[in-house]
Amino acid sequence: MQESSKKEAKLIGIAMIAGLAIGLGLYFSGSAHYVAYIKPLADIFIRLLKMVIVPLVFSSIFMSMINLGTPEALGAMGRKAVGYYFITTVIAVLIGLIFVNIIQPGVGADLGSAGLQNLDSSMAQRVSEQKGLFQTIIGVLVDAIPTNPVGALANSNVLQIILFSIFFGIVALYYPKRSSAIVEGMRSLEHMSLTLTHWVMKLAPIGIFVLMVDVMSRSGFDAIISLSKYIFAVVIGLTCHAIFLMVIACVRSKKSPMFILKGLATPLITAFSTSSSAATLPLTMAAVEDNLGVSKDTAKFVLPLGATINMDGTALYESVAAIFIAQAYGIDLSIGQQVIIFMTASLAAIGAAAIPGAGLITMSIVLGAVGLPLEGIGLILAVDRFLDMFRTTVNVFGDCVGTIVVDSMMSGQTFKKVESDET
Ligand code: ASP
Repeated sequence: MQESSKKEAKLIGIAMIAGLAIGLGLYFSGSAHYVAYIKPLADIFIRLLKMVIVPLVFSSIFMSMINLGTPEALGAMGRKAVGYYFITTVIAVLIGLIFVNIIQPGVGADLGSAGLQNLDSSMAQRVSEQKGLFQTIIGVLVDAIPTNPVGALANSNVLQIILFSIFFGIVALYYPKRSSAIVEGMRSLEHMSLTLTHWVMKLAPIGIFVLMVDVMSRSGFDAIISLSKYIFAVVIGLTCHAIFLMVIACVRSKKSPMFILKGLATPLITAFSTSSSAATLPLTMAAVEDNLGVSKDTAKFVLPLGATINMDGTALYESVAAIFIAQAYGIDLSIGQQVIIFMTASLAAIGAAAIPGAGLITMSIVLGAVGLPLEGIGLILAVDRFLDMFRTTVNVFGDCVGTIVVDSMMSGQTFKKVESDET
């Protein structure tokens, strides 16, 4: 890892801790309103990150196809990535179920003092508009096909952009001569987007500092304390899963945990402070490509796909939250119902968007599947933003480890190059 990356990791760590301390200071001194003066700095940081997502994902996926040289190689990579996403998501949910059943955070919880909040009208509407499990999953698959690629780019629909880039890439592989101008253009676009990402990265310490001050100064400690057992169950489950992922990463990459953590410090801390895998994506791509020593082509493909559909932290959180709500309402769940929660939590995480609070909305799928009251979401609403920070960090870490795993499985595989009909 380069010396500059180490310095950057240190600076970002300091920014996070300083933001945390100052945010708490403002909260306890009742001066949280001052944050409004610096909040625009965080907004600028997040908007700049979002600005690079579309050109970066579009050009990276396309170029990874060109560099892989064959649709079969991409297919093999895709299958490995999806296999990894599936297995780790299932394990995450299992870990969540084990902890929530041992800790039983909802048993005896007093619904009144536990911070039960009425869902405000926009939240209630989003929850009620959430489709059922079948429609959600089928919807994700059908919606992945863009009817208008320009619309997909304009709306930052990452899954649609990925699919369009793949189709475009396949055509370019079959007709290299006629596509050469586009390939060159995409190469430049990718290079420029990555350069821009590195520039935006320089603002990360300021952005992260302000984001932490903002979140902490609004942290609502009363709710955190009254829901502490539930928070503990989620955080300990996420920690266990992160350790499990770290072990996989170390075994597959033959690198130390410290090396991996330092290399990924910027995206992990950004995920923690923004609660958005999507906004973090440019930094995740830059850090994995620069610091982990994996193939750039693997990172370019596995990370955007993972940011959209691989959410171990969200899946774990959804299983804990559903059982917590059942416990709090005194509803006994049979093993069969827990199995349904296990399956729906895994799938609901795929349907969750990579933005703050998305996991809370898809919770309604899990609750609906076993007939738990949707109002139960009001019970956990107060601490959702707080827990979102932890689950998003695990989501992003899961994507990075996926890159290491897929890369180690791909190396040594050879694929026959596409035979073009161009002469
Ligand atoms: N905020 C999470 C993410 O962006 C999704 C969630 O709400 O769980 O990864």
